[in-house]
Amino acid sequence: MKGALYPGSFDPITSGHVDLVRRASRLFDRLVVGVYDTPSKNLLFDTRARVELAREALAAFANVEVQPYTGLTVEFAHSLGAAAIVRGLRAVSDFEIEMQMAHQHRAIRPDVEVVCLMTSPNYSFLSATLIKEVARLGGDVAGLVPENVNRALRARFDGQPQSDSVPRFLNS
Ligand code: ADP
Repeated sequence: MKGALYPGSFDPITSGHVDLVRRASRLFDRLVVGVYDTPSKNLLFDTRARVELAREALAAFANVEVQPYTGLTVEFAHSLGAAAIVRGLRAVSDFEIEMQMAHQHRAIRPDVEVVCLMTSPNYSFLSATLIKEVARLGGDVAGLVPENVNRALRARFDGQPQSDSVPRFLNS
């Protein structure tokens, strides 16, 4: 049985991530979506919420499970007995960092391969960061994120000003 780990921040999970899960779940018998506990990013949702949102969004995939993790991604993959780490490549800009990480992973655990899937064209412009920014400013992100994530974003940003009341350039 071949298993793989799809790691990331998933803050929050987007339709691009779901598309990648759908495709990776056909390549492997078992896919663990690993929600990294402490990425060096400003998080909107805490780990519990990110895991919960991903679990709900991916409930239809029988061979997919969502687990939080801390520490080195490649060690988590190894502890799961995963044959591969799956990552998505949106643009050339993703490639360099993924290449660097893949070399790093190989240096630590050469038995864990890194498999990069090209993002579907529909989602190649999508990032969780962009989604959060659009949602924060009151924009509609329906279709770009799963339904439950859309609801969570609305709940998070409802009642907040649609944009900064003072234009940014005046703040600097
Ligand atoms: P990280 O902080 O590790 O980059 P992300 O949650 O941003 O975590 O992304 C997790 C993985 O999903 C990465 O491999 C990333 O390239 C991929 N990914 C991000 N956005 C998309 C998308 N729109 N379509 C497909 N894959 C994506």
